[in-house]
Amino acid sequence: MKILLLGASGSIGTQTIDVINKNPQDFTLVGFSVGYRTRCIGSIIKKHHSVTHVFLRDYTKLSYYKKRYPNVTFIAERDNSISDLIKMCNSEMVVNALVGFSGLLPSITALKLNKKLALANKESLVVGGELINNLLASGHGELYPIDSEHSALWKCLKVDDKNVKKMMLTASGGAFRKLSRDELENVTASDALKHPTWQMGAKITIDCATMINKCFEIIEAGYLYNYPYKKIGVTLHDESYLHSYLIYEDGLMRGELSKPDMRNPIKFALYEGKIPFKTQTFKSLDSLKNLHFHEFNKERYPLVDLAGIVLTKKGTYGAALNRSNEVAVHAFLKGEISFLDIERIVFKCMSEHKNITHPTLEQILKVDNDINLKATNIVNQIKGGKIKW
Ligand code: NDP
Ligand code: MG
Repeated sequence: MKILLLGASGSIGTQTIDVINKNPQDFTLVGFSVGYRTRCIGSIIKKHHSVTHVFLRDYTKLSYYKKRYPNVTFIAERDNSISDLIKMCNSEMVVNALVGFSGLLPSITALKLNKKLALANKESLVVGGELINNLLASGHGELYPIDSEHSALWKCLKVDDKNVKKMMLTASGGAFRKLSRDELENVTASDALKHPTWQMGAKITIDCATMINKCFEIIEAGYLYNYPYKKIGVTLHDESYLHSYLIYEDGLMRGELSKPDMRNPIKFALYEGKIPFKTQTFKSLDSLKNLHFHEFNKERYPLVDLAGIVLTKKGTYGAALNRSNEVAVHAFLKGEISFLDIERIVFKCMSEHKNITHPTLEQILKVDNDINLKATNIVNQIKGGKIKW
């Protein structure tokens, strides 16, 4: 399988390279993109002589790489988009490990070109779930989820997708799971970046701390498996060993247990779900005897409920949700706003949003732009002390 990897310098990107390196008989890396962390370019090209195209955001490094590796075509964000990379590079599968809204257009381009899309970028579905499902329904490309919960559910549904009463996503609760809401007022970005069970990029780690990540994952599950909001639930689980589970009408439960390691779901997606489900076996059941589960409390994590609006009303609510969060997370990481301001900004943008049903891509892009301005304006007012919530 010829693979084009988007986001090679990131957490999922690096682990995807690991999976490709361990299975050279099945996968050939033909191209990749990085953003500003360009240092990995040389080592990837040296190991993968099959690479023909590389995209980088950092234009200042372009001429260096062009001279250093004359047999590879380099393009940079100043003149080209990642969608251009997808069109230029002769791949069969596109792995989308980009973060945030930047993943949406590449996902759409890949499907329009009838590629197999291995999708880590859940924001593509949050923002453009309807567009993506319309493309798939009209026979464009294929989609394989990388998110660990959705990979687990995919496996469970493969065994039996009949009479499912509830689809349950597990959640670690993020960095602040032991804190009350009052204690959240003064937490910092460096506190929020300490995830208890997973090593991930900065944005998703903050998304886990606010739990908007679980909100995104409910939306992701809704679009991937065509499940209504009321049939998708959340259970808090401290160790991240149980990756999600189904509850059937007769009370039976089916889930996937393994140590947290994203290379398992990445591998399953790269193999299009066609490998045996065995991931990591346990030496004994002892390692499972101290697993902890807790009932999910909506009041503690109010952002999660917004998934209900996005999945039931659809339209441009997903774009508003995603962009208000991206602006707020960015400002929080820069120390410009408090942790709870993230939530306040998202709720304000969502409650004032005028939904457009069945939006075109252009309408989604416009909402993304408008919410960017609106949320940035709110951040500036907070910085200037002009907002008292
Ligand atoms: P990282 O921040 O580690 O990596 C993101 C990648 O995208 C980097 O290569 C980065 O480039 C690149 N990038 C960032 N912004 C842009 C942009 N505007 N245009 C082009 N490229 C860009 O993120 P993760 O790997 O943690 O997450 C990737 C996706 O996978 C997210 O959607 C996340 O929610 C999802 N996911 C991640 C998991 C994990 O374990 N990490 C688990 C499940 C899902 P550079 O850094 O070089 O600038
Ligand atoms: Mg996940």
